[in-house]
Amino acid sequence: MAQILLHSTNGRSPRVNLREALMMGQAPDRGLYLPEAFPKFAPEEIAAFATMPYHEIAFRVLSKYADGILPAHDLNHLCQDAYNFEVPLEMVRGLDRVAVMRLDQGPTASFKDFAARMMARLIGRFVRESGQKLTILVATSGDTGSAVASAFHRVEGIRVIVLFPVDEVSARQRKQMTTLGENVRSIAVDGKFDDCQAMVKRAFADPALKHIALSSANSINIGRLLPQSVYHFYAASRLGRAGEPIVITVPSGNFGNMMGAVIAGQMGLPIKKIVVPVNGNDEVPRFLGTGGYAKIEPSRNCLSNAMNVGHPSNLARLVAIYGGQMDETGAIHRAPDMAALRRDLFSSSVSDEDTRATIKLAWERHHLLLEPHGAVGWRGFWDYLAAEPLNGSPAVMLETAHPAKFPDEIEKLLGFTPEVPPSLAALDHLAEDHDRLGVDYEAFRDHLIARHQPACN
Ligand SMILES: *Cc1c(COP(=O)(O)O)cnc(C)c1O
Repeated sequence: MAQILLHSTNGRSPRVNLREALMMGQAPDRGLYLPEAFPKFAPEEIAAFATMPYHEIAFRVLSKYADGILPAHDLNHLCQDAYNFEVPLEMVRGLDRVAVMRLDQGPTASFKDFAARMMARLIGRFVRESGQKLTILVATSGDTGSAVASAFHRVEGIRVIVLFPVDEVSARQRKQMTTLGENVRSIAVDGKFDDCQAMVKRAFADPALKHIALSSANSINIGRLLPQSVYHFYAASRLGRAGEPIVITVPSGNFGNMMGAVIAGQMGLPIKKIVVPVNGNDEVPRFLGTGGYAKIEPSRNCLSNAMNVGHPSNLARLVAIYGGQMDETGAIHRAPDMAALRRDLFSSSVSDEDTRATIKLAWERHHLLLEPHGAVGWRGFWDYLAAEPLNGSPAVMLETAHPAKFPDEIEKLLGFTPEVPPSLAALDHLAEDHDRLGVDYEAFRDHLIARHQPACN
């Protein structure tokens, strides 16, 4: 097997291997890394997944990328260590072969644990081998920060700095970031998520910070996407017969999770449709409809807060895979094959009102407990069914967070509070510690420099 090389979607950076792409995050030309060609599975390799546990499928999928990066034995060990929790596939009552996959059993109760835990183990290993120190900056609207902080907590040679908008995260989300300590620092920013993201982006481009090795754990990093392809193979192996195409629904914001499904398809998984419902931030369904792209600025504040993204960075990758080119500002320099995009993807926008109605309806009709992100997904799946019947195909919808992350909303709609998993319940008793900054880039830079201790670990 040859080593996989990755190129930038902007086309003006040298090709790198996976190790370099993981360490850098974004390409120097501000593009995003993509493999030049995706490794392929033979149908019989995919058929064999039916009897394998999750961590074994993860190993098979990721080992296609690991040649020359990591010995197979070590990768296998990392997968077992990262994926030591359940991945429940809940068959939906009253429907035939339609399942909800609950990606909420990791330590921070969102799907982001899947990628963050794998990425932390890989980057931790590379950092140890190189003797280099690394600072990971992450801007978060809630779930990314907590998943990344938890995954990198106590990883030697790495410090993590999380920026979150002070008024836009729930108390539980905040505690997931502010109670870890040691190599994890969090900063409450008196601003919006967009402000946090802009400060992080400026830091990456700032010559005054050149002496600090910075990396990103946002889904611009290809290391966030490859592990997210694994659960599609897993779901298909449990729901369908070998070779049978599946309908996959991924409630989307920055479209990193969707890229996992696209990558699985590129690697040979038969997929009938990838359904990507969004909340009121509807730039992608409009793009699929018209072929013209316009970002939404500032992003709209919706109930499914982790999907409040008005300019999804991973769209540049999707456009590239379909033969086009989009830069980081959203300008399209070469149009993708829109007919192929529309054949493979379906997207609709779901209002907050419909999100709430769906939480109620799914519970009443199917005894299916959803939180707002999953409810956007479920409603969008039905929008798809109205356009194209399943005709007996298996289907899976990804529930991306644990309902206990949204106790008030669910109590209001359903009259009970969801049971809190132990990982979240433990937080209530821990002491918090975080810094606080205004939307002030210079202050943030000073903070980064002052707290940069070369010997930190
Ligand atoms: C991050 C997140 C999403 C959106 O995922 P993208 O990869 O940004 O599309 C959806 N649901 C939850 C709960 C999230 O935390």
